[in-house]
Amino acid sequence: MIGFEYARASNVADAVSQMAASPAAKFIAGGTNLVDLMKVHVERPTKLIDISKLPLDKVEETGGGLRIGALVRNTDLAYHPLVETRYPMLSSAIMAGASQQLRNMASVGGNLLQRTRCAYFYDLTTACNKREPGAGCAAIDGHNRMNAILGTSDACIAVHPSDMCVALAVLEASVHVTGPRGERVIALTDFHRLPGDTPQRDTNLEADELITAVEVPPQGFSTNYTYLKIRDRLSYAFALVSVAVGLELNGSKIKEARFALGGVAHKPWRNAAAEASLSGQSASEAAFAEAADIVLRDAKGFGHNTFKIDLARRAIVRALSQAARGTPQSQSSKKIA
Ligand code: SF4
Repeated sequence: MIGFEYARASNVADAVSQMAASPAAKFIAGGTNLVDLMKVHVERPTKLIDISKLPLDKVEETGGGLRIGALVRNTDLAYHPLVETRYPMLSSAIMAGASQQLRNMASVGGNLLQRTRCAYFYDLTTACNKREPGAGCAAIDGHNRMNAILGTSDACIAVHPSDMCVALAVLEASVHVTGPRGERVIALTDFHRLPGDTPQRDTNLEADELITAVEVPPQGFSTNYTYLKIRDRLSYAFALVSVAVGLELNGSKIKEARFALGGVAHKPWRNAAAEASLSGQSASEAAFAEAADIVLRDAKGFGHNTFKIDLARRAIVRALSQAARGTPQSQSSKKIA
């Protein structure tokens, strides 16, 4: 373990000012990813600024939607009555991630900021542009079964590992942040970046900014939704492919369709053309298959992960079908619908 300073922030302004004074510091809340990265020397902060006691741990109703403090624990959010009843897709996605112990510790803000689990990123003996810009990417010609098929670049084919963020993308959440230049709001769908030629940057959050809250608008798709996660085992595994779906139906016709994929790209993946193709259509397997084809027409496999293209196609059709039936798969009971 490397040496580092530790200080607890007394309030949000103090957290921001401590970070401004120590640009190589990191904020720590649950620490469920950061500590792992520090143990293998991928992250080497000179200081940890502990924000875990800041008053950012409330879920509040606001303007018909919810404001979720950045320090709300994943478990508390998944089981919150307002989330369970109005945003069950979000509960389901959170419960599909990690383990109970990790969900008990992990914060909402930390979930947004968790880093890829690409094995080469964690292995200092291999080339990784995300860890060391310009070093190369061992995954492109390496063991890339878990890596991306959409939005990749020649520099990086990593995927964002969160389940929660896939649901938040469908819900069109916004991320509230603060920093030395004041407060700002970033749409969740703009929060995570594609790798391009700067794969070292996962998000559009600046290094000196702090996430204070996530807001979700009123539309929760509480009747026709699902979060389908395909993985190697039914718990404590990252997604090969996941699909979050929210449908608004008018009889058998689709009024509005939103869906996002996890496990396939450097960010939760939505496709506006695919969603628009479903608007006004009857909910049918044919329409869902056509939407899946639109999403995947630019998909590219890298050998070990090429199977994900067909897997994603089938997962999209299945998830949309489940959501249309109003019988979403239960992630918490571990039963396969
Ligand atoms: Fe690193 Fe990205 Fe390549 Fe993985 S895919 S080795 S994270 S550059």
